[in-house]
Amino acid sequence: MISEKMKELVKGNSVIREMFEEGKKLKAIYGEENVFDFSLGNPNVAAPQEVNDAIIKIAQSEDTCFLHGYMSNAGYEDVRDKIANSINNKFSTRFSLKNIIMTSGAASGLNIVLKTILNPKDEVVVFAPYFSEYNNYIQNYDGIVTKVEPNVQNFEPNIEQFKEKINYKTKAVLINTPNNPTGIVYSEEILKKITNIMSQKEKEYKHPIYLISDEPYREIVYDNIEIPYVTKYYNNTIIVYSYSKSLSLPGERIGYVVIPNELDNSGEMIEAVTIANRILGFVNAPSLMQRVLLYCLESKTDVESYKKNRDLLYSIITENKFECIKPQGAFYLFVKTPIQDDKEFCNIAKKYNILVVPGSSFACPGYVRIAYCVSNKMIERSRQAFKQLATEFK
Ligand code: PLP
Repeated sequence: MISEKMKELVKGNSVIREMFEEGKKLKAIYGEENVFDFSLGNPNVAAPQEVNDAIIKIAQSEDTCFLHGYMSNAGYEDVRDKIANSINNKFSTRFSLKNIIMTSGAASGLNIVLKTILNPKDEVVVFAPYFSEYNNYIQNYDGIVTKVEPNVQNFEPNIEQFKEKINYKTKAVLINTPNNPTGIVYSEEILKKITNIMSQKEKEYKHPIYLISDEPYREIVYDNIEIPYVTKYYNNTIIVYSYSKSLSLPGERIGYVVIPNELDNSGEMIEAVTIANRILGFVNAPSLMQRVLLYCLESKTDVESYKKNRDLLYSIITENKFECIKPQGAFYLFVKTPIQDDKEFCNIAKKYNILVVPGSSFACPGYVRIAYCVSNKMIERSRQAFKQLATEFK
């Protein structure tokens, strides 16, 4: 018998599972070429050549026992040192290897941080729309999700409501920029507003409130937009980074957490997060992938190809009079549904073999997410289907 808690979680996961099954069914009936599956955030750009070259080089040159062995739970010192230097060069920060803990992607980074800081019933503020797994991650440690309603004007955080929602039980505020599902990049101004409020509240409540910045899409930005490095604005910041999207390695599970010296009791936090890596069963980040990073830290994914997809899809969506804000990063378009019921809209879209995810899965009903990490040809082929879909609402 599965646990009561797990039963609830299984129920909550059915939307995505149903969509996956639906996609398989449609492809079997109509053929791969005629189904427009925009449901998943799986990069369609291959990992840079340097990654494969590094894997071969490492496998041929490094001592195999060392390569496939356990290491310190925080990860290899030389890898962490190189990452710290790379961040310092880009953002004028002053991290050392001790501030970096290697993780099995952002998912494990978020889990080890939340495991470390949450007592039961502690609250974590999230800004809708947000990545739905946050609900699971927070509930894993009996935390409470405090949702700030979406600001549909521009999808930046709703600051007025944030002021109302933050309270004595708030242990952390979780942000994600560039954002899944909107593609919005939070401006420096908005980050300053959030962190100013948090600083005031820390003083008022006399305990730390952590800002957790989930950044798997940091490298995927368009039009020369800068993404501020949040540790500059607020001492109690923890950065969660991942190579899943930046090097197209989601199945390899590699990322890191940054815990700055400026964070309250930083040493204790670093030690606890490192131990959480072990006790949650991740133990350490995958060894081979850590070694690969030594050669690939400055490698880049093909952002131009995502930009080409964004521009094409945005033009198809808007020429059919659907409303949407042009994303500045990540690889998602968040589109207002012409009917309020976003799930019904997804069902209607399926008639034209278009698969998209309802906004209610991101705590923002009345919208759908279209993931454009797909081939440019598929987007082009979907043009007619979107045109037909639009006629349903004329
Ligand atoms: N956070 C956000 C906002 C995401 O979109 C994802 C994956 O899609 C993750 C975290 C998890 O990423 P990872 O593969 O690094 O665990």
